[in-house]
Amino acid sequence: MSLNQPKQIPDSLEAMRKFSEVYAERTGTFFCIDSSVTAVVIEGLAKHKDLYGSPLCPCRHYENKVIEVQSAYWNCPCVPMRERKECHCMLFLKPDNEFAGSTNNIDNSEIFSHIL
Ligand code: SF4
Repeated sequence: MSLNQPKQIPDSLEAMRKFSEVYAERTGTFFCIDSSVTAVVIEGLAKHKDLYGSPLCPCRHYENKVIEVQSAYWNCPCVPMRERKECHCMLFLKPDNEFAGSTNNIDNSEIFSHIL
């Protein structure tokens, strides 16, 4: 494979990237000014989706991820986000958050530049 060929984009990563963009737009929230935060969280959601079938929040410790997925509380968007727009992962930031950037878009090349 040539170095200039685009990397294969895993389906789950693309699904979570699109979900994050659409959900941020719908909720009036923005991605972090530091795009590495956004990239790492999206990658973590995608990994959980692959492994457990649901995008369990990647920023928490769980004793048993299978049970957590079943309870659904921390499946993204988690209950605190849905109820109060609280995202402790800093994926979805309200405009008045000091770490909020000015966009809720991120492309694959930006994600790959941080996670690989
Ligand atoms: Fe998603 Fe909630 Fe985790 Fe934010 S804190 S990434 S909304 S599950």
